[in-house]
Amino acid sequence: MTAMHAPEAMDAETRQQAHALLEFCREMGLTDFYRGKNDPPFTLDAPAPQAAPAAMAQASQPILATPALLAPTAPTPPAQEAADEMPRKATQIYPPNVALSDAPALALAERPAALKAIREEMGDCKRCALCKERNQIVFGDGDPGAELMFVGEGPGADEDEQGLPFVGRAGQLLNNMITAMGLSREQVYIANIVKCRPPENRVPEFDEATTCTPFLFRQIDVVRPRMLVALGATAATYLLAGKSSLASLRGSIHDCRGSKLIVTYHPAYLLRDPRQKPEAWKDLQLAMKFLGLKAPAKPKA
Ligand code: SF4
Repeated sequence: MTAMHAPEAMDAETRQQAHALLEFCREMGLTDFYRGKNDPPFTLDAPAPQAAPAAMAQASQPILATPALLAPTAPTPPAQEAADEMPRKATQIYPPNVALSDAPALALAERPAALKAIREEMGDCKRCALCKERNQIVFGDGDPGAELMFVGEGPGADEDEQGLPFVGRAGQLLNNMITAMGLSREQVYIANIVKCRPPENRVPEFDEATTCTPFLFRQIDVVRPRMLVALGATAATYLLAGKSSLASLRGSIHDCRGSKLIVTYHPAYLLRDPRQKPEAWKDLQLAMKFLGLKAPAKPKA
């Protein structure tokens, strides 16, 4: 479990990392948790439009047409929502060993019990402030031996009510994405950066995410997916140590705890800006190619 540092106990390196994180949060518009009492409220009235993603590293490969399940349906997101996936400055918020894992690989038969043990160790977790307004902890869901694992940001209202990740509208879209990849939801594992719903679905704060992610890392170590999919900027930040912007992370295969990892948009963002669905489909095809998956054939009319 990663120990949290009180500000007065921070060493210079930790302080520098925290400073970089705060700078990153400022760029994303996340200022309320450290804004001074007398500072003016931060607004996103005029966000910079998101640049088109850079040419993908494997752009020369044939890209399948976007499946109907992921086809764009309605454009033009509100300004606040367009800022959700804004590129951000390169930062380093974690020790570099986040990408590594020295946990022994478990046999498939041992994994359900290992996940259960992690859940039991969490108990009625009150390790961070997100415990205060949650209804229940949303631990994770899916096949403990899955080759593909999705990681989102945190539970929303539906997830908080049902105790399962991705069960609302965003969850339905994620199900569609999984189906388009030729898999079923039961064949993958799904979890989040934080396991309790942030109030009003705000982005988890740094101390909340870093308090909770050790449990996620242990889940990853147990499941040992061949491929992780980071859904959105928050998942990418904490799984890849905040190395770079979402736009620059997309289109490449990264390393995380012994697994490969790709980055794509969060389904909730895709619901708000369906124009990005073809881009998300390109991202998923990277994972499919790595895993040797083929999109299911279209049903004949
Ligand atoms: S978000 Fe994670 S660390 Fe915080 S209370 Fe919930 S389970 Fe515990």
